[in-house]
Amino acid sequence: MEAAHVHEVAIVGAGFGGLGMAIRLKQEGADDFVLIERGDDVGGTWWANSYPGAQCDVPSNLYSFSFAPNPDWTRAYPLRDEIQAYLRDCAERYGVVPHMRLGCELLGATWVAGEQRWELETSHGAIAARVLVAAPGLLSEPFEPAIPGLERFEGNAFHTARWDHGDDLAGKRVAVIGTGASAVQVVPAIQPRVSRLTLFQRTPPWVAPHADHEVTPRMREAYRRLPALQQLSRAFIYSLVELLLAPGMTRDRRYLKPAEWIVKLKLRREVPDPGLRRRLTPTFQLGCKRLVFSNAWYPALQAPNVDLVSSGIHEVREHSIVDGDGVEHEIDTLILATGFTPAELPIAERIRGREGRSLAEVWDGSPQAYLGTTVTGFPNLLLFYGPNLNLGHTSIVYMLESQLAYAIDALRTMRRRGAAEFEVRPEVQDAYNEEMQDRLAGTVWNTGCSSWYIDRNGRNSIMWPGYTFEYRRRTRRFDAEAYRLAPAWTPPARAAAAASEAPAA
Ligand code: NAP
Repeated sequence: MEAAHVHEVAIVGAGFGGLGMAIRLKQEGADDFVLIERGDDVGGTWWANSYPGAQCDVPSNLYSFSFAPNPDWTRAYPLRDEIQAYLRDCAERYGVVPHMRLGCELLGATWVAGEQRWELETSHGAIAARVLVAAPGLLSEPFEPAIPGLERFEGNAFHTARWDHGDDLAGKRVAVIGTGASAVQVVPAIQPRVSRLTLFQRTPPWVAPHADHEVTPRMREAYRRLPALQQLSRAFIYSLVELLLAPGMTRDRRYLKPAEWIVKLKLRREVPDPGLRRRLTPTFQLGCKRLVFSNAWYPALQAPNVDLVSSGIHEVREHSIVDGDGVEHEIDTLILATGFTPAELPIAERIRGREGRSLAEVWDGSPQAYLGTTVTGFPNLLLFYGPNLNLGHTSIVYMLESQLAYAIDALRTMRRRGAAEFEVRPEVQDAYNEEMQDRLAGTVWNTGCSSWYIDRNGRNSIMWPGYTFEYRRRTRRFDAEAYRLAPAWTPPARAAAAASEAPAA
């Protein structure tokens, strides 16, 4: 594969991470970069997840780039469409659009050691770049469970992250499989318009009250006129959730007690029937699976057109689902709210490093990196939202901005030192991952429930085990001593010629 021009940077993915990197590059004065995105617009997971009711659980004032506050949020928690519009606006405002190639999928990326560059194969042709920024998002690849007979189903079936807007569901018999954060939003949103909704619950979630409310036009005007006010709100929310939730999740579960009382009280108040309440009561430690927030979930489950099935799924047939008790439920549309495969991203199979091995081969089901960002054997690769960076309590945008600072400083350091290559030292990566696993052993996420935080080898390769400000501190500057830096490689013939031309000392 011959690529004409070698870009300084190629970015894969136009969600918060990839778009943020493109914006920061522009701010640094860099112009020779390309941003590819397989979707038809920017937004990443927020572009892909267009299901009814999609809204972020992190407060609006915290869920934005710190350098691009948005006074236009209409809700205290941002709606999917508004996040999408915000990111589109950022792409335009910061001059990133000319660098974007939408509808362009990464098919393969190979490190060419002799040329010290990445060669990318995309659905739009070849691209070469010195540095590859992979920002595929963690929640981008739908998980389709192996349910017996699923392939036999003849009605309409789709995943929440691939919503079929051509099916308005009106008057239909709909089945939803799953009770995670997506289902908790979808079910109340569609329940009023379907004729029958059958919800297949394997594990009931802990459901916390939702504090969503309108941001009044007057408040929005105040944010516009007085940006410091919104910054103050942002700082307050950040500190509050960090202090209220992070200690309980990462250090001492006693701090989660108040949250447990609140969710139990909510369940008791909102579900008066003791039999139903028992079926909706989780048996795992609060916080082990992701906490979900809704004021509409329990009321929707008690609507007369909703059946809660908790006996499991025996099999799917052409037009029905047979549950674990042998009862057959007739279905027109089947919605899989079954989550994602964050530890098995397809992009990991497509990126091949120094020894020709893919990330997936090296990781073998358990992603590992240094600071969730760089990987031994994969020079000049920066991963965004990489291993062990996810949070259970606050905004991932905060973590991504920490990564942005680190990535930009890596590029500056390379320029300053005349380096053409950086690669994290294996012993540094190993020590870091050992530390992560040691610390995770004492967290709420490792208390034995099954969740998408635990990979197929039983290892937690998803969560960050501390405060977010600790990660910010550790990524403030690129720690070159943790890396092997190599100068630009000179072919032997050219090196000999240069030596013979050099004036005698
Ligand atoms: P999820 O949390 O992984 O939930 C998947 C659901 O599908 C679980 O209830 C799971 O049951 C069920 N399931 C999986 N395989 C099944 C099978 N074979 N049979 C029956 N049930 C099965 O996925 P998600 O709801 O899409 O959420 C993923 C993450 O996305 C969230 O944790 C959150 O971080 C993010 N998200 C955020 C928001 C928000 O901010 N509001 C909204 C949506 C998603 P088990 O629990 O028994 O495994």
